[in-house]
Amino acid sequence: MRRQFQGQGASRGSALGRAWVRLPDVLEVGEQHIAADQVDAELERLHQAVGRVRAEMQALRERLQDALAPELGQFLDLHALLLEDPELLQGLDEAIRGQQLSADYALHLQRERITAGFRAMDDVYFRSRVEDVDQVIGRIHASLHARHDGRAGMAGEVLVAETVPPAELAQLQQQGVVAVVTTGGSPLSHSAILARSLHLPMVVGVPGLLQRLSDGEVLTVDGTSGEVVAAPGPADLRRHRERRRAVARELRALRRLRREPTRTLDGVEIGLYANAESPGDVARAHALGAAGIGLYRTEFLFLQRTVVPGEDEQFHAYRDVLLAMDGRPVTIRLLDLGADKADRTGLALRDEPNPALGLRGIRLAMARPALLETQLRALLRASAYGRLRILVPMVAGREQVRHVRTVIDRLSVELRTAGHGVAEGIQVGAMIEVPAAALALSTLIGDVDFLSIGTNDLVQYLLAADRDNEALGEFYTPLHPAVLRVLRDVIRTGKVHGRPVSVCGELAGDPDLSPLLLALGLEQFSLHPATLLDVRQVLRACDLSRLRARLPALMRAPDRPAIERWITRQQPRIEGA
Ligand code: PEP
Ligand code: MG
Repeated sequence: MRRQFQGQGASRGSALGRAWVRLPDVLEVGEQHIAADQVDAELERLHQAVGRVRAEMQALRERLQDALAPELGQFLDLHALLLEDPELLQGLDEAIRGQQLSADYALHLQRERITAGFRAMDDVYFRSRVEDVDQVIGRIHASLHARHDGRAGMAGEVLVAETVPPAELAQLQQQGVVAVVTTGGSPLSHSAILARSLHLPMVVGVPGLLQRLSDGEVLTVDGTSGEVVAAPGPADLRRHRERRRAVARELRALRRLRREPTRTLDGVEIGLYANAESPGDVARAHALGAAGIGLYRTEFLFLQRTVVPGEDEQFHAYRDVLLAMDGRPVTIRLLDLGADKADRTGLALRDEPNPALGLRGIRLAMARPALLETQLRALLRASAYGRLRILVPMVAGREQVRHVRTVIDRLSVELRTAGHGVAEGIQVGAMIEVPAAALALSTLIGDVDFLSIGTNDLVQYLLAADRDNEALGEFYTPLHPAVLRVLRDVIRTGKVHGRPVSVCGELAGDPDLSPLLLALGLEQFSLHPATLLDVRQVLRACDLSRLRARLPALMRAPDRPAIERWITRQQPRIEGA
């Protein structure tokens, strides 16, 4: 009998296949104690299991080395890092030796403790790391019992599971598995990110599905809408075929756009820059023909570390981004760390009552002068290798930009005296994400060379709606008349003063919103490489002068539904879509 389920689309594409229902490897272990004379043997059993998992992962890494997206290497590294984590391993040893617990029970307790810590974090990225911890501990547990992942996937199957580790995902695709549906997980999980780069359709968050499907049932999976249909009827199969054709057409059209200019129908060149957080993102940005890097988030060099990266390490990281972009502008943002992005370096304050309003971004850097100087020295040394622009996060007024410039000037002299090459006239820009900076822009614009609007934060501060609080639903939305007014005014002020303005928040990466941003006057977008070609495709189909003529109607829209109607009316026709 036909049944329809709804989850969240995590990797687009449409699939038709037989369900392979994999029941969870639950780590339901009762309290188990061992005798004192069993402790050494139990520790040995555990260490051997950990050793086997390490060797398995190492072998997997070598086997898949060249074949896969660069992200996979990072996930394997993260899992390998978790496997070396002293907190995990020493805690296990102590529980076995000190409390005479069985290795299984010690693992169970460690998993509970570590995942509770991750779940309590405010940052969605870190919350979604619970999956990684679960997967690593699950592997050790399976290895303790010499259990393997069961059978391999078969061509034409849709894996239905609680979660799927990223490393397995790549293997599954090689085995011919056509889609993955998980009852847990989030579109931000490593697995979801990897599924997108492998073009493997994926739907996450369909609770209860494991109990409501039988192995071998036929399913259609729509990775865009998140719809899963069991025992599909003729109409479902027809819709699946249509979706497949549409996706194939889209992919063909998009691939052709890699070398095409980002020019509107009426001939205006739009700057399409990429946001990047890792060398993999930078490589993809280059391959997709991005005009440069519009936002390089340096936090990611710091977040998985317990020790602050030193000047040389930072220098190499920044230099390599500049080299990879081969003369195209690279905008590197000063560290935007704060209690909102729980770090392990101990740099950010712990337990701030309201981290989003706390000591983050440039405020933290000014409170820790050595941190700012180390980063700036590394950046200035890197500037000799390309076109570096420095971006200051969380600017509220001109004094913060002036402070950064003063430090840059002093350090440039010092570095040159010491024989380092430092580029002349490095541009310094401000993130516009604190409403005060947007509203009093004319008071600070004389101190900056360019502006980058961080709509992720700007929206949360303008609407007093936490960007990470799912409970707020539509209270957090860029489609609010106040947000549109601020965007229009910042872009206008930038133009009047001859300062380029880009938007680097998630808004810029949503192709449905590209016409709206063009109408507001935007000419530079910075977005994640994943949707760069989609946005390019839409921008090329837009008539800029026509959209600008529709701006008054947009500004008259009094609420979100009216803004959405405007957006729907202004969607351009994409050829071949
Ligand atoms: C933003 O706030 O829009 C932004 C791009 O920065 P982040 O998401 O890193 O805060
Ligand atoms: Mg921000």
